[in-house]
Formats: sequence, C-alpha cells, structure tokens
Amino acid sequence: MEEKEFVSLVERLEVYAEKHPAAYKLRVAALAAIGYLALVGPVLAIVIVTCICLYLVAAVVEFNILLGILVVPMIIAGLVLRSMWVKFPKPEGYRLRRVEAPKLFEVLNRIRIATKGPELHHVLLTPEYNASIYQRPRLGLFGWYENYLQIGLPLLNALSPDEVRAVVAHEFGHLSRKHSASSGSIYRVRQTWIQVLVNMQKHPNGFGFYRNLFNWYAPYFSAYSFVWSRAKEFEADRFAVVLAGKQNAARALIKLDLKHRAMDEEFFPNFTRGAENQPEPPQEVFTALLDWMREPVTPESSQKWFAQALTHKHHFTDSHPALGDRLEAIGYKDVRLISDLDLFSKETTQFGVDYFLPRLPADLIASWNADSRENIYERWEEAHKIFKESKRSLAAMDVKAKSVKLTVDERLERAKLVSKVHGKPAVIPELQEILALEPDHVTAHFVLGKALIEQGDETGIKHLERAMEKDPHAVPLGCEAIFQYLAGKRRTVEGEKYRVRIRMYEQKVERAREERKTIRETDRFKAHGIAPEIVRTLRAQLARYSDLASAQLVQKVVKHFPEEQTWVLGIIRKRTWYESTDQNLDQVLINRLVNEVSFPGPTHIILLEHKYKSLRDVFGEIGGSEIYRSA
Ligand SMILES: [Zn+2]
Repeated sequence: MEEKEFVSLVERLEVYAEKHPAAYKLRVAALAAIGYLALVGPVLAIVIVTCICLYLVAAVVEFNILLGILVVPMIIAGLVLRSMWVKFPKPEGYRLRRVEAPKLFEVLNRIRIATKGPELHHVLLTPEYNASIYQRPRLGLFGWYENYLQIGLPLLNALSPDEVRAVVAHEFGHLSRKHSASSGSIYRVRQTWIQVLVNMQKHPNGFGFYRNLFNWYAPYFSAYSFVWSRAKEFEADRFAVVLAGKQNAARALIKLDLKHRAMDEEFFPNFTRGAENQPEPPQEVFTALLDWMREPVTPESSQKWFAQALTHKHHFTDSHPALGDRLEAIGYKDVRLISDLDLFSKETTQFGVDYFLPRLPADLIASWNADSRENIYERWEEAHKIFKESKRSLAAMDVKAKSVKLTVDERLERAKLVSKVHGKPAVIPELQEILALEPDHVTAHFVLGKALIEQGDETGIKHLERAMEKDPHAVPLGCEAIFQYLAGKRRTVEGEKYRVRIRMYEQKVERAREERKTIRETDRFKAHGIAPEIVRTLRAQLARYSDLASAQLVQKVVKHFPEEQTWVLGIIRKRTWYESTDQNLDQVLINRLVNEVSFPGPTHIILLEHKYKSLRDVFGEIGGSEIYRSA
C-alpha cells in the first residue's frame, strides 16, 4: 500500500469510526483476531497434525521408518516457524527497586488500582526524555505477559511531581481494563505485528506465503488500529485528568511538546557548537542534558512553538494526536491562541526527580555519561573537522581578497564560511555588503532576512519580502520564518496572513502542475525563445532519428509561474506506403526521443496526427517553430 492510499484509508476510517463506533470497534477486533490466528494458527495446526500422525502411525510402523515419514512435515514446520519467529527483546533501562524510590512505587500502585491496570513487574529508569508502558510476552506469540514501565530520567528532571503523575496515569490508561477487555489484546496484536514487520525487514528471505499475507494484512490492520489507537490516546489523556487534575495534565502535555522542540532546536545545536574548539566531546554530556532539562523554555521560544503546535495537524507516523486536539479533548476548548499559554505557565518549584528519586544510584549517571559521549563521539569529531576546514578556507579567501576583488559568488561563499566559523549573526554585515553591490540578489536577501529576524531585528521581514518577490518559491520558508517571529511577539493576527500566503502558494503550485500536465488543442502557444546555438544542438540530436520527418518547437502559454517555461515538440513520423497509421511505432519514436534527447527544459513531445493534427497549422504559424526537417 502506498503512503497516499494509507492516508486516505485512515481518513475514511476516521469518519466511519465516528459515525458507527460500535461497528468500527467490532471490525478492529475481528481484524486483530484474524491477525493473531494467522500468526499462531499454522504453528498450532502443524503441532496437531504431527501429533495425530504420530499416534496413527506409531502402532503399525517401526521407529526409524516413522522418523522418515515425519521428516517432510518437520521441515515445513521448521520453515514456517523460522519465518514467523518473533523476538520480543526485554526493554532496556536501570531496574528501580522499591527502596530506591518508595514514593514513585506508591504513586504507581495508586494509579494502577484506580485504572484497574495490570500488575507492574518492572519499573525501568531510562536516559530518554519520555515514558512508556510495555507488555512483553514471555512466550512470544503465545503470550504470558510481563509489564514494564519505562520512565526517563530527563523527563523526571523537567516535570513537576504532579506532571509526572499525569504522564504515568496516561500510560496506565493504555492498559486499563476499565473501558473494554478487548483493548489490551488489540494493543498487543498491534505491537506484535509491528514487531513481525521489523523482523521481516531484517530477514527478507522468510516464507513466501507469509510475506504475501503480511504485505496485504499489515498496512490494512495498521490503518484500522491506527484510528483506534488514536482514540485510545484521548482516552488515556482522560485518565491523566482524573488522576492528576486537568491543569497538570495540560501542563504535562505542553511541557513535553515544547521541551522536545527546545531539545532539538536549542540544546543540541548549542551543545555541538562546543566542537568548534574542542576536538573531543566533554565527559559529562548526559549531566549537561539533565541540568538543562530544569531550565524553563524561554517565553519567546515557547510562544513560537506553541503557536506552531496549535496549528499542526496530527501526523500519520505517530498515533499521538496533535497538541491542540488533545488540549481541546481534555476540556480546554478555546485554547487556540498563543496568549492561552499563560493559563499554563507556572514556575516549577520542585522537580519530579527530587520528589520521587532523592537518591540516585551513584554510578548510573556516570555510565550514561559515558554512553552518551560514545554516541555523539563520531559526529562531534566530524563537526570539529568541518569547523577547522572552514576556518582554513576562510583564511585562504581573506588572503585572496587582499590582492583581487572577490566576485559576488565568492562573497556569498565567504559569508557561508563566516557563518560556520563565527556564528550566524556575524554573517549580517557580509550580506549587507553583497546587497550594496547587487541590490537584487535573492539568496543574499533571504539569508540576511532570516539572520536579522532571528536576532529579533524586524527589518529582516523587508529582506525576506524582497526575496519572495523575486523568487516565489522562497514563499514557504520565508513566510514560515516571519510567522514564527511574529508568533514569538504575540502578533498572531499579522502572523496568520503569512500562513494564508503559504497555503495560497501551495494551491498555486498545484494549479501550475495541473496546467502543465497535458497539451490540448485549445491551449495557447508562442515562439520557443531558445538561443540559436541551443536550437542547433537540438537539431543535431534530432537528425539521428531516421524515421523522424519534421519537428516543431513552441512554448506553451501558462498562467501560473509564467517565468517557468514549458515547451512542446510536435513531431511528424515518416511513413512507408504499406504501413497504415501504426500508433505503436509512433509511441516507440516518442519514447526514444523522451529518453535520449536532452532538452533545455521540461518538454512535452506530441505527434501532430490524430487529435493533435489541427496543431500542425497552429505551430506552423509561429515564427521559427520548425527546428528540423529531414532531407
Ligand atoms: Zn499514549
């Protein structure tokens, strides 16, 4: 199934699930049951058949003959088993004992009882910024589950104890038996299938029949259970509200989201800047992350990302709904504006880790520091190398600049190096110089505009506008940058205009694509406008085709992005007297021209016969259109 089909199936199922919740649930459950049977059934069947054979045959034949008879079914059984053998690795993490975190265990126990959740066998502390609950079948496909809660130490460093409670309640909500008994098993079949697919990708030479079944069933079930599991996310959020309070549940959701963004866009980039001077990463990488986790996200960044998160639609790779939808579902119906962020801003005075884990196991942090350092080592070294090279190239360029005047392209290259060596703000004067020399330089306007507004300088908008005016394809990135700047300043109404512009641009691109897709008799055409020397090389290429009689080249008149030209090459094929209009041979010639001739830009090749016959005269009237005629 293509991604597009998958998305449209999910969209249809969403509507269906809302209209007929009961029928939809039944379908998901039935699909899950089929999926499970498909996995387990053959193994059971082989075991049963083998037993029956043994029983029937054992009475009449000798043992070694019996073995001979059983070899074939045993080989088949082995193949089947091998192809569907699914491993469920134990999740990683530091196993917390009750004495190390009595308050955490107490809270977990209370939540478990309240949600009627299953018994928790292991609580694992991890170095990740998240929390999750996982049911691992000890017997693979045959079940017997042990339950793990994984909770990240960075998360405990960012959230207050109440917010941690909300997160854990959400996780338990997934396993709650309060809502429906089938929930847990659908959840598990979904996880099992995901595991099967991962395995199949690792060992592509499995059993053919199973591969086909997997390929058909997996995306289908995945679409069905996707909609189902998104509904479950809302349900899990309701547990968080009941057990930790609406405010805490909302605050936890927002913090998880914003801090994630901050980690990707602020912490890691800033951290790796250290590679400029240090050839090796620092010893205490993980400790640095933990300390940073306690810092609040700056108001500007919060507003910027919150505004973005609220307008984001959910994504099809993640069953978690979009932040705005989740907040709405737990009772913040009107939270659609950045100013609503104030509702949730409260200084965190105590962190989850201090409350739940006052005494951390001493060597744990040390070992995670070592792991993190090893993980980033190569990338750090690479960054250091690039920095050193940039520095050298910059110095070389400066030497050159003393004797000759740098061209605009060289100056742009130099600006790139300056940005790498001295950071983005340092690039501003460089670009201003380029614009003094060439006031319409699109790239210079764009990069300067972005650098300025990132520094909080509003004049950047003007430069971005200039760039977008010169190059319409700069609109999506330019407008997004301006939107983020304005959102950070709480100027949403102004910002919204830029969002609208992005949507209009996208529609225009779509229309432009549509417009260029086909050639019709009713289209308008004009002279090709290609330089004579390029026409000459084109003609030389066309002369190689002995069955080509003539070729006319024109330009299609387009409404959207008229500066992006589209050409049409109308051809006539030589015919022998005994051959009638064989369209097969026509297509062969067209295909060869498409694949072999290099055109100066996007070009449609049409045969000036049948439905396009009338275009012969139309093209003929356009000056200079005939670029080839066979002798
Ligand atoms: Zn969840």
